[in-house]
Amino acid sequence: MLVVMQAHASQADIGGVCGKIEALGFRPHIIPGAQRTAIGITGNPGAIDPCEFVDLAGVAEAIRVSKPYKLVSREVKPDNTVVEVAGVPVGGADLVLIAGPCSVESREQILASARAVKDAGAQLLRGGAYKPRTSPYAFQGLHEEGLQYLAEARAETGLGVVTEVIDVETFELVERYADCVQIGARNMQNFSLLRRAGRSRLPVLLKRGISSTLEEFLMAAEYILSEGNYNVILCERGVRTFADHTRNTLDLSVVPAVQSLSHLPIIADPSHGTGRRDKVHPMALASVAAGASGLMVEVHPTPDRALSDGFQSLYPDQFRALAADCRAVSELLSRRRG
Ligand code: PEP
Ligand code: MN
Repeated sequence: MLVVMQAHASQADIGGVCGKIEALGFRPHIIPGAQRTAIGITGNPGAIDPCEFVDLAGVAEAIRVSKPYKLVSREVKPDNTVVEVAGVPVGGADLVLIAGPCSVESREQILASARAVKDAGAQLLRGGAYKPRTSPYAFQGLHEEGLQYLAEARAETGLGVVTEVIDVETFELVERYADCVQIGARNMQNFSLLRRAGRSRLPVLLKRGISSTLEEFLMAAEYILSEGNYNVILCERGVRTFADHTRNTLDLSVVPAVQSLSHLPIIADPSHGTGRRDKVHPMALASVAAGASGLMVEVHPTPDRALSDGFQSLYPDQFRALAADCRAVSELLSRRRG
């Protein structure tokens, strides 16, 4: 159920509707819009009678939301959401480049990566301190030490930090250092982690599960919004198919599909989406052309010595070329759109 307020509705009118929703035992979500405010309702086990709201002061209409996801849907919020990460708007007019190594491996490695990606035009730094690895014997990350190096890289370069959180136990620790918490593909349906992210003050970058449908992806985001955190960035990172010329198949048609169903920004990760260094640049360009609001790209000062995802990590010079080409495409498209 969505209660749409009249354009001139007062704060007291909005408060009245929220009070009524709470009195019914449900949770109100105020969604400000360009024209008027809407109030979403969650926590109701069944349908709510619109008559409960239509006669309240300032209410224009009460409508049923047809999709299983509510707060992430465009029905509920027609305007695009712009998520700020350390002052960088994601989902606005400018293409956002998030770059850095797969894992934080040492102080020197993350500082060198941060300097290189900043110099090449990235606005945000990525790097995992907690790594979800297929093998328990593979490098698992430097944990808090890695987070400290990321904070040092931020202090030196000014780049905001996006880093992965893999469980509820370490969430608070990651929150202390990060500007945006990443929930990885393997955890897209870790519902307790999603709920915890929903109670975080930080924006969340949610990656699509390895074989998840669009509806499952949006429902995962709904978990985060339903707890009160509306700052969610979606990320297409490739799904598993029969194709064996790449590690995953970057499903770029999900970009316009998300944009028609949801107001949340969507970016693409052509590094995990292809798994091969030579395919990252062309698929980054394709992602921008398809309308992605940003890119997440793995870059390493010495990819051949990387402790994770070296095959798909770009050399700094390759990232510089990718950044320049992707910005050119993005600017061309926004000029043509006027
Ligand atoms: C990563 O970003 O390094 C990562 C593990 O990504 P994904 O969850 O998409 O596999
Ligand atoms: Mn990786």
